[in-house]
Amino acid sequence: MTKPLFERVAIIGFGLIGSSLGRAIRAHKLARTLVACDRSDQALATIARLRLADAATPVAADAAKDADLVVIAVPLGAYAEVANQIAPVLKPGAIVSDVGSVKGTIVRDLSPILPPHIHLVPGHPVAGTENSGPESGFETLFEGRWCILTPPPGTDPAAIAKVTDLWLACGAMVETMDAAHHDKVLAITSHVPHLIAYTIVGTASNLEEDAKSEVIKFSASGFRDFTRIAASDPTMWRDIFLNNKEAVLEMLQRLTEDLTALQRAIRRGEGDMLFERFTRTREIRRRIIDAHQA
Ligand code: NAP
Repeated sequence: MTKPLFERVAIIGFGLIGSSLGRAIRAHKLARTLVACDRSDQALATIARLRLADAATPVAADAAKDADLVVIAVPLGAYAEVANQIAPVLKPGAIVSDVGSVKGTIVRDLSPILPPHIHLVPGHPVAGTENSGPESGFETLFEGRWCILTPPPGTDPAAIAKVTDLWLACGAMVETMDAAHHDKVLAITSHVPHLIAYTIVGTASNLEEDAKSEVIKFSASGFRDFTRIAASDPTMWRDIFLNNKEAVLEMLQRLTEDLTALQRAIRRGEGDMLFERFTRTREIRRRIIDAHQA
């Protein structure tokens, strides 16, 4: 048997993303031992029932002890708590990574807590669904999707290479960039679209209550697509907006300006302007399909 990439991998937070990574690690034999940690009794019961890991524990320190890779996969608001729990037991040379959707605050929040003898290689697999928990994970989730790594300057290249190899082996494509750049890009591609979905669905539900209108009964595909996005986990998304405040506010400002321009075009009956805008956006959809990211 060829040597696995890691001897012992601990995944803290075994929900959609953590369990999908765990499944892929097992499917591709990337770790000799996989330890799952989750605070939820229900998640621990599912891990045992589906045999998703070699061991499972509610205690993060027990999972992280002796691990050569620890992946934090809890909501962003729980990062500091997890880091405080694992810091005393991390072995020298261990790699600590994560899957969080915002990267700028990770180094700020984790670096002061984690010991200097570990390698911090933050990551974000740009893949997911609106579902949560270990039942909703699947081993092919990352195939053909991007995983963005944001190692701080000076990170050991060998540690970055190992985390890169992990994601490549899970079928992902890997790109490395600065954390601030990541947060700007994701603000417009993911965070603001979610905010729009939460807003539209909220407005429609208020309308339904106020005007007794039949929003749900006659929901057309546009609204239905928004409800899928707006069904995403409230804890996770609350934490994303609290942690990517600046970039989200900047993108919202730009969006507001563009929305005002469209509002004016509709009021003035400027059909050419609307047609030109919608033609341009159609082209973007075509490029996403061509890039196999649809
Ligand atoms: P999830 O399915 O809700 O899983 C998170 C799990 O972590 C839950 O079982 C939760 O338990 C557990 N947990 C919370 N605090 C904990 C703690 N202190 N110690 C141990 N376990 C703890 O969430 P997810 O969708 O996998 O998201 C996890 C991370 O991935 C987030 O940081 C998110 O930003 C990132 N991400 C998500 C997506 C996506 O589309 N979902 C995509 C890319 C990245 P409880 O249920 O008891 O809280």
